[in-house]
Amino acid sequence: MKIQVDQELCIGAASCVAIAAKTFGLNTEGKAYILEENVEAISAIQSDKMDTRELIIEAARSCPVAAIRLFEDTGEEIIL
Ligand code: SF4
Repeated sequence: MKIQVDQELCIGAASCVAIAAKTFGLNTEGKAYILEENVEAISAIQSDKMDTRELIIEAARSCPVAAIRLFEDTGEEIIL
């Protein structure tokens, strides 16, 4: 899975961080960013350091301004 956060849209509501704290963080400007750039490689290992796919989808759905977009490894966008 690939994750994008549009920091122009992000209002720092932090619901993504609350739901998937191993994936999303807030920077010093209060904008969300991806904690692990290479989610694709990590998820293949199924590390317990990663949030599950379901949690990441739930976090993206929770964003009040739809700033998070998710994509399959194939590049196809996951409809939230
Ligand atoms: S839920 Fe949306 S608005 Fe809130 S911090 Fe995450 S990306 Fe930003």
